[in-house]
Amino acid sequence: MQHGPACPVCGSKANEVWASARDVEYHTSDDVYEYRRCTCGVTFIDPMPTSRLAEIYPPNYYAYASGTPGLVERIKQRLDARLFRRLLGSLDGEHLRVLDVGGGDGWLLSVIREIDPRVQSTMVVDLDPDAEALARGRGHDYFCGPVETFDTDGQFDLVLLLNIIEHVADPVAVMGRVRKLLAPGGVALVKTPNTDSLDARLFRRRNWGGYHCPRHWVLFDRAGLESLAAGAGLRIRRFSYTQGAPFWTVGTLASLSRRGAVRVNAQRPMVRHPLFSPLNAAFAAFDIARGALGGRTSQMFFELESVG
Ligand SMILES: [Zn+2]
Repeated sequence: MQHGPACPVCGSKANEVWASARDVEYHTSDDVYEYRRCTCGVTFIDPMPTSRLAEIYPPNYYAYASGTPGLVERIKQRLDARLFRRLLGSLDGEHLRVLDVGGGDGWLLSVIREIDPRVQSTMVVDLDPDAEALARGRGHDYFCGPVETFDTDGQFDLVLLLNIIEHVADPVAVMGRVRKLLAPGGVALVKTPNTDSLDARLFRRRNWGGYHCPRHWVLFDRAGLESLAAGAGLRIRRFSYTQGAPFWTVGTLASLSRRGAVRVNAQRPMVRHPLFSPLNAAFAAFDIARGALGGRTSQMFFELESVG
């Protein structure tokens, strides 16, 4: 095995080139980014475009992140609501404090508050200054900045990190911070793409949507996330796979656009393409069926608790 840069999770240099990919979703540049795979189960972008945040998260990125949910989104919310109901039911306490890292305008915290009336304290930590007013309007506290710098004496019974850990440069620091933010008996719920899925293998060299290139910097398989958690003093309380239809959709549309069959560009991001929603619905049904049959689907849920 060749020697590469240090793995951002385990520090080992025994990693090799895994794939290269472009920004096929937002076309923020024509650059080709390299992904490397470490023996610890981590796949990471190298080099990390840490100084190009404003470029790789264009203004329209946030515009499409919110808005009226489509059919797939509504099905997903129903499935996730079931997960949240069970998870909240497993937590002890008269009053529950919930933190959503990367929670934006706080819509999910509002859903959670409706599911369980014991949820009386809700907090968003997010980088987006424009989401603060909306989140506060919904009755949530808000800290604008990275979670590593979120300094509080408070602790939380439930900490959400949904599709966040793959976006950060230093997942070890983030996971360590999360552990400190957990109240005794508290649970951290982490959702992240699965590099050990069928779509990740099929689209490995063809712009797999899970790369969300160049915005996903550190990606995991089940063992990789487990070792990240263990390093922070957290263990897996429960694990499940979940669907990741957009990863299939992005890979498929990128292949079609490379052949000239569809056109996507910076003015019309892939998510606005008329084929995106129908493809997404079809792949969601496919992934949900595969998940029901025990398949290792595109994304993973980890429920983490402190060791000891
Ligand atoms: Zn590693």
